[in-house]
Amino acid sequence: MLQTGLMMERPLLLSSVIEHAAKQYGDVEVVSRETHGPLFRYTYAQCAARARRLANALKSLGLAPGNAIGSIAWNNHRHLEAYYGVSGSGMVMHTCNPRLHPQQLIYIINHAEDRVVLFDATFAPLVKAIAPHCPQVHTWVCLADAANTPSIEGINSVRSYEELIAPCSDDFEWPEFDERTAAALCYTSGTTGNPKGALYSHRAIVLNAMAGCMPSVLSLSPNDAILPVVPMFHINAWCIPYSAPMGGAKLVLPGPKLDGQSLYELMESEAVTISAGVPTIWQALLAYMEPLGLRFTTMRKTGVGGSAMPQALIAKFMDTYQVEVRHGWGMTETTAIGTMGTLLPKTQGWTSEQKQALLAKQGRSAFGVEIKVVNDEGNTLPRDGTSQGELMVRGHWILASYYKSETSPLVDGWFPTGDIATIDAEGTMQIRDRTKDVIKTGGEWISSIDLESAAVGHPAVAMAAVIGIKHPKWDERPLLFIVRKPGASLEKEEILEFLASKVAKWWVPDDVIFLDSLPVGGTGKVQKGELRKQYGGVFS
Ligand code: ADP
Repeated sequence: MLQTGLMMERPLLLSSVIEHAAKQYGDVEVVSRETHGPLFRYTYAQCAARARRLANALKSLGLAPGNAIGSIAWNNHRHLEAYYGVSGSGMVMHTCNPRLHPQQLIYIINHAEDRVVLFDATFAPLVKAIAPHCPQVHTWVCLADAANTPSIEGINSVRSYEELIAPCSDDFEWPEFDERTAAALCYTSGTTGNPKGALYSHRAIVLNAMAGCMPSVLSLSPNDAILPVVPMFHINAWCIPYSAPMGGAKLVLPGPKLDGQSLYELMESEAVTISAGVPTIWQALLAYMEPLGLRFTTMRKTGVGGSAMPQALIAKFMDTYQVEVRHGWGMTETTAIGTMGTLLPKTQGWTSEQKQALLAKQGRSAFGVEIKVVNDEGNTLPRDGTSQGELMVRGHWILASYYKSETSPLVDGWFPTGDIATIDAEGTMQIRDRTKDVIKTGGEWISSIDLESAAVGHPAVAMAAVIGIKHPKWDERPLLFIVRKPGASLEKEEILEFLASKVAKWWVPDDVIFLDSLPVGGTGKVQKGELRKQYGGVFS
């Protein structure tokens, strides 16, 4: 007969994370770039005290557990305080991506029923445009002191964050409630239809953040200083604002300054050991460092994901800069990290190229997430590294249903990701493409990701993107977009010849378009939808 274990059942609540940091790592620093420029620094103990003050301030605004609070903000210390003050009070922290179309922003703020919206001064014009269409928001709080809070024409309800919390006590008893209570809300980008809400529970976030500290994931400890470039306005910044205080790591928040020079200088001045971001950010960082011959003094590791990290870029980080690359995969619906790649001891004798080829894959699932790939009939495919099908996930921090939606997205209890992947015998997953990006040609598939990675391997290429264009005979054919490195010369014939030496002949794109830049969305990903809109004609 089964017996119940005789252990305590303490709920997994986010308030416990910041209080843990305050008590155990009270003097570990949080450094934050203010929206108006200067660096601000304090400790986890001070951060926790201000989160409690915010909790009291929210109460004074008449808010109650269950209410949603929106944010349109950079990675900074006040946003961090809100992560804890809001969720810790039993309210829902609704992070909004400022680069969504204003109509979509209005839609999600109304859909989430945000009562208060916290915003950075950068986004004052946006707030001015959307506020009249968000009647349920009664207070707009600028994450600044009074001097740096702009007045916004037509909106009387703008408050300064510092003024709001100043009169409040930092004494606050965090409420205790069911760990399945909603803590945060993030909407998908809504490339098709309206954005859909992923409503994260305290339990899901705490467990994901614990996984983030594991050596096989981000490996965060008091020996680290982590700089998340991944935005706090999307997918919880991969839960780093939770796992850093949990692991006792110093947290360095870059605010609005995300260009290569600012990031490099902050990494150096704050002795950052690990960072995390999408590949386009790393491309920009290296584009700044390379011509100046700069090197990292303390950076040892970088987490990368959100879109595929080309092998050539992994090689550059590892060989030239001695920075270990951790390539992971996740999506809005998976709270944060789902899989992460690391090298197993048996790869010790491998060549650098072999290791980098392995790290170009998206890695093994973290404990807490199960993965499988299925064919069109829903049958599980073998873990042989070549059978490709739709990636399905389930686990402690995987979405079960969308916010306020009647229909379940699940298939037999698994979440269908819309990504096409393979899994090998060791559990290493490789994203081959998104179902909407894969190029279907003559009944076969071409992976746009593989073609882009190959193109970025050419020394004159800064960025590459591939889309499928309708073709009367072959259904679709690949069209390649290239951004040349500054000062580099490269013509169509040369890049096509280069690709012919790297991929199957029938994969070689039918045409190449050179651009000055690629359209990049709010989360730093190339917007292939935009390219399709503009260039998606028919090949003859
Ligand atoms: P969107 O990109 O539409 O804003 P998300 O931010 O939720 O949505 O992104 C999730 C998607 O990003 C995944 O489904 C996958 O297609 C892609 N993705 C995430 N990490 C990687 C990676 N390491 N390699 C390739 N694709 C990735």
